[in-house]
Formats: sequence, structure tokens, C-alpha cells
Amino acid sequence: MDLGLKNRVALVAASSQGIGLATAEAFAAEGCRVAMCARNAQALEAGAEKIRKRHNAEVFTEAFDVTDPAAVTRFVAAVVSKFGSVDICITNAGGPPAKGFLAASLEDWQKAIEANLLSNIYFARDVIPHMQRKQWGRIITITSITTKQPVADLVLSNAVRAAVVGLVKSLANEFGKDGILVNNVGPGFTATDRLKELAKARSAVSGKPEQEFFDAWAAEAPLKRLGEPQELADTIVWLASERASYITGQTILVDGGMYKGL
Ligand code: NAD
Repeated sequence: MDLGLKNRVALVAASSQGIGLATAEAFAAEGCRVAMCARNAQALEAGAEKIRKRHNAEVFTEAFDVTDPAAVTRFVAAVVSKFGSVDICITNAGGPPAKGFLAASLEDWQKAIEANLLSNIYFARDVIPHMQRKQWGRIITITSITTKQPVADLVLSNAVRAAVVGLVKSLANEFGKDGILVNNVGPGFTATDRLKELAKARSAVSGKPEQEFFDAWAAEAPLKRLGEPQELADTIVWLASERASYITGQTILVDGGMYKGL
């Protein structure tokens, strides 16, 4: 299947590891020029260098925090100056800490809103005018299964990510006329450092070994295993491609069937 992505410019936020890194690599494998960012310059450049070598791809990197709107604006401008446009924008950031409602401080809420809601808005505001000029664009938010089904002790994610779905649907409605498709991808339990953090937090609270949590998460999905970052990346790349040209405003879960609803 020809995904029609060759030479497209794909910006992937928070991409020094995990799902973001796998997604940046998957776009490079399709012949895209790729722009990556994350806070840790060394880790980011190491990931980018692997992608360049494996796929002979053009990869631009800049280290900054996606909760800084001025830095997002500078980055998008730098990507446009280097590659001429931003065709595809994948928004992403680290997930909020695992906490119950009373354990979450107001600062936790503020940080979750900045990283997991506002950062999507910052990128969308900056990339949409470029996409409008080309009358073609894709924005895909990486959120969580919590957009469909709350997860215990993840109240920050359960609440804040729901707003992203409202944003995605609104952008899809407003900018469909400009050929801009906006969708949301929700990972289920996926084997990345984020999941290791969650296992550690739960083990610290319960005293149970971390492995028990990995086993329980795998058992929750009908496929009886964790997801791989590559499986998220493949879905995101397909959604961004010409082969998904009539899909907008949707949330697609990549969760091994874990979501229990219809
Ligand atoms: P991860 O923690 O492995 O990687 C997160 C990436 O984001 C890293 O590159 C990190 O450097 C970068 N990052 C974090 N905060 C940033 C910031 N403020 N500015 C710039 N870069 C920042 O996470 P992951 O497992 O790849 O997950 C990606 C997203 O999907 C997260 O929001 C996570 O909560 C969500 N998610 C993950 C799972 C899972 O099981 N892994 C499940 C549901 C949802």
C-alpha cells in the first residue's frame, strides 16, 4: 500500500523515547522529512541520529519544553524555515503522575493541563496557518485510553485528556474545509518508560513487585499482552496518510481491545 507520504514534513513532539520516537522513525521510514523535539537534547539527538542512519532521512531536532508556548512557536518557525512547511503535526508530551484525586495537588493539575492540554493548543495554533496555505494537513494528538475509559489512580489523565478530545473534534469541524484532518490516538498499556514509571509508583504504594502490574495490565487486554510503541506509530502514520483521507474528528484506541465499551 502506498501511503503517499514521501517528502511530507512530519513534526513529532516529545519524541526522544517511547511512542514519540517510534512515530518519528515510522514517518522517516515512509520518506518524510522529520522534525523532533523533547527536553533532553542528548537523548533527542541520539534518537534522531539512529533514524538518520537507518532511513537516510532528513531529521531536524530542537530541545525545549512543550509547555513553553514561545518555544513551540520558535520551533514551528524553524521547521518551516528548514523544510518549507509542516504537513503533519503529532502532538505529544509525557503523561501526568499516577495519583488518586485527594493525592493530586493543585500544582499537579496545573502541570497536567499545561503538558497534556495546552501543549496541543500551542502546536495547533502555530501549524494550522501553514496547513491552510497548502490546503492539506494532519494533526494527530497522542493521548490515552483514558479518553474513553478512566483508569484507576490516573485522575489527572482521565480528566485533562477528555478536553483534548473536545479540541480535536472542534478543530476537525472548523478546518475540514481547508483539507486539515484532526484525529486522536489513544494508547492502551504500551511497553515504554512511561509504563515502567507507573509500575514503580504502584509498587511503591502497594509493596507488590512491579512485574505483577505489568502482568495485570497485559491480562486486561483481550490480546493478553502489552502494546509495542511501533504498533502505535504504525497507526499514527496510517492516519496521517492518503489512505485515511476521509477520517477526521475521531479517537482511535490502540489498546489490544482493552476498552470495554461498544
Ligand atoms: P514516555 O514517558 O516513554 O516518553 C515521553 C516523551 O515525552 C519523552 O521523549 C520525553 O522526553 C518527552 N517529554 C515529556 N514531557 C515533555 C515536555 N514537557 N516537553 C517536551 N518533551 C517532553 O511516554 P510514552 O509511553 O511514549 O507515552 C507517550 C504519551 O502517551 C504520554 O502522554 C503517555 O502518558 C501516553 N500514554 C502512554 C501509555 C503507555 O502505556 N505507555 C498509555 C496511555 C497513554
